[in-house]
Amino acid sequence: MSNVAKAQPAATEPRSNAARDLLEWWDRERRDLPWRTPAGRAPDAYRIWLSEIMLQQTTVKAVIPYYERFLARWPTVEALAAAPLEEVLAAWAGLGYYSRARNLHKCAKLIAEAHAGHFPSTPAELVRLPGIGPYTAAAIAAIAFGAPATPVDGNIERVVARLFAVREPLPAAKPTLRRLASGLTPPARAGDFAQALMDLGAGLCTPKRPSCLVCPLQGHCAAHAEGLAAHLPLKPSKADRPLRVGLAFVALREDGTVLLRRRPEAGLLGGMLEVPSTAWSDALPPLDQALRAAPVHGQWWAVPGSVAHTFTHFRLELLVYRAVVPNEVPLTFWADPQRCRWVPRRSLNAEALPSVMRKVVAHGLKEQ
Ligand code: SF4
Repeated sequence: MSNVAKAQPAATEPRSNAARDLLEWWDRERRDLPWRTPAGRAPDAYRIWLSEIMLQQTTVKAVIPYYERFLARWPTVEALAAAPLEEVLAAWAGLGYYSRARNLHKCAKLIAEAHAGHFPSTPAELVRLPGIGPYTAAAIAAIAFGAPATPVDGNIERVVARLFAVREPLPAAKPTLRRLASGLTPPARAGDFAQALMDLGAGLCTPKRPSCLVCPLQGHCAAHAEGLAAHLPLKPSKADRPLRVGLAFVALREDGTVLLRRRPEAGLLGGMLEVPSTAWSDALPPLDQALRAAPVHGQWWAVPGSVAHTFTHFRLELLVYRAVVPNEVPLTFWADPQRCRWVPRRSLNAEALPSVMRKVVAHGLKEQ
């Protein structure tokens, strides 16, 4: 079956008509966000970069006060580069994912020192800077420099999957969706077009109940024509996703701190914190072998029940083991001590713990 809807009157229209209609709508309805450039002013790459880094895995509402405080305190990339890292981290506190703040500072220094304060303008150059992945590079290139780039995140994937009625499930459909999004992007106003898609995905083409009746793309939208809008994009059914299993170790020190570890930057949940665990694999290793992978030596006992979580391409079930250990307990080789730290229980909410790990911590610490 083709990934793209069979010829629909809507889907066969020139793409430029869809882009034109979307941009006309956006010129009237665009969200007024503090990092957006007022009409007639040249975009400021520093502001756009700062907002895009803050927006990674965080909502617009949460970002606005941080963005405004950062900008008031460090109005230029040079000012941010000259700030001590500790001050930047303190100003970032509460926004989570602290590796982003470290990379933000590293990147500001590099731009100030090696690029004379000017951000490069192409995605290929931007993606080489600390903390900038393909999405952020495309967003900065398009919005700040008008480069013909198309940032594609989950919101834009959803809009494009519907517009073209792409029936291939995610994540396999990602390359198709990127190609289709790129084909839609007009040669002029690429940055406005990217922001228009973002606004459409956030406001009208929402995950559960898309507002097709007031959507500027309704006449171009194959999913709407086929009555499929709320069902796309497809995700593999939970039962089809392979199951991985493992043991997670909730180590609680007598001073009330819990052992957390930072995951490697690359890969699933990259740079976020976790409770140390065995590898997540098809089958559990024998218990004595699994317990040898514990991050500290102690009396480990199984917390009844387990923690289940569904990722896009697999299901995970973790058995949780818990130990209360003395304050001076050394970490084992398996803990990978350089990536570990002890975090007070009361501060856990402010840490960059993904939801699966929040479930593990809650399960491991609950009173039996
Ligand atoms: Fe999304 Fe509906 Fe607009 Fe299609 S018509 S893009 S499904 S809101």
